[in-house]
Amino acid sequence: MASPLGKDPISALWTSGAGKFVTKQLGLPQPPELYRYKPGKPLLLGPVLIGGSGPDGAGKLVEPLHHILGEDYDLVTLNRGARGADKLGALVFDATEIADPDGLFSLYQFFNANIRSLGRSGRVVVIGTTPEEAGSPVAQAVQRGLEGFTRSLAKELLGGSTVQLVYLSPNASTGLSGLESTVRFLLSGKSAYVDAQVIRVGGADAKAPADWKQPLADRVAVVTGAARGIGAAIAETFVRDGAKVIVVDVPQAGEALEATAKRLGAVAVAADVTSPDTVSALAEASKEFGGVDVLVNNAGITRDKLLANMDAAKWGAVISVNLKAPLQLANGLFENGTLKDGGAVVDVASMAGIAGNRGQTNYALTKAGVIGLVNAYAPIYAQRNITINAVAPGYIHTPMTDAVPLLTREVGRRLNSLLQGGLPVDVAETIAYFAASSSSSVTGNVVRVCGQMSLGA
Ligand code: NAD
Repeated sequence: MASPLGKDPISALWTSGAGKFVTKQLGLPQPPELYRYKPGKPLLLGPVLIGGSGPDGAGKLVEPLHHILGEDYDLVTLNRGARGADKLGALVFDATEIADPDGLFSLYQFFNANIRSLGRSGRVVVIGTTPEEAGSPVAQAVQRGLEGFTRSLAKELLGGSTVQLVYLSPNASTGLSGLESTVRFLLSGKSAYVDAQVIRVGGADAKAPADWKQPLADRVAVVTGAARGIGAAIAETFVRDGAKVIVVDVPQAGEALEATAKRLGAVAVAADVTSPDTVSALAEASKEFGGVDVLVNNAGITRDKLLANMDAAKWGAVISVNLKAPLQLANGLFENGTLKDGGAVVDVASMAGIAGNRGQTNYALTKAGVIGLVNAYAPIYAQRNITINAVAPGYIHTPMTDAVPLLTREVGRRLNSLLQGGLPVDVAETIAYFAASSSSSVTGNVVRVCGQMSLGA
């Protein structure tokens, strides 16, 4: 069972007295306890310091950020005076106006002076300008450089702290409505297991929810593969955030699906996502809600084998469930009008699709293919203001990963900057962020939920 702070069972073992003794003998660092979101708990463990690249920490986003965050966060300025001894909950830096290498000195100064003040499970958010829209070639190069800075800083921080980079289109209006959902997601325990990511936010405005504690109150969502694991956590998180949810899973998982639906007050549709009838079954089930705003293609399977030993059935099953079905469902619901204008599609990729994995040629192909879907369909769906994004989970503790041999599992889950595996809720929170109508300016992104996994392409 996860603790209120969301420790997974293996982390709980390592942080027990016996576990601490063993890890000390082995010279392994202790996994920090991550601070996860819970309604009613503070969003962060300390105040937020916002600075920018101009003189005295000024920047064109600094005031607007104070404006949008002022009500829910304790904000401090560079001149912290008596509060100087407090540990900070987050550091936010506006780097959007940095246009040449000399301008980068302000970035150094801000973080060199303040990074030691960041407390445990702290958040660092650097906001830059989308490189391709940054103007001069020099400005583009400098903005692109922020990726190297943030990814390295993420590897330096301890205690469950994370670093993210947000690229904002220079066309964004000064009210920052399009940026707000992203900043709020990153400045909270909802992004506890998201580290060293780059999120691109477009220039259009977005509509804030009536209540930021119920960001999905205006959404009807379909979640596939929701009988257990990550899918069940997505459905639960969506319901917490106010959505009406239709949960889908194979008929063989019917009992677990019914139990999930009953617990959450969701509608259950027992259907195989690979069946051509599923699109019409979902159109029918969503009629009472007037259609669907969000489709989460979460259902997925593994059939691991070295390629030389892999039979055609293992190859075909994985392609059908993980790649053909997400394509078929999204396009089917898009074309028959069930997926409403202003909606969102969220796909579940995997770190295996980015780094590759021995024994997973079929699986990694489909998960990289899902990333391809996001890139290809973002401009097509944008014509109806529908977003498409993906999450790429790293090691997440679920029944799927329970099947991995213990030693491989233990190595896999520790090879990241946060020194632990994630929980299904970590993936669910990221998907909920993408699914909200307040994230309508966020499309074409793939966010890894992997604690900055060390395995790379
Ligand atoms: P899981 O096996 O625990 O759950 C998957 C669910 O999908 C099951 O309830 C299963 O019945 C359902 N499903 C499978 N085939 C289906 C079909 N044809 N039609 C309808 N439902 C179907 O797996 P999980 O770990 O919760 O994984 C969820 C998603 O996250 C998958 O897409 C997986 O590839 C991805 N993922 C998981 C991890 C991880 O560490 N657990 C890492 C990366 C990606």
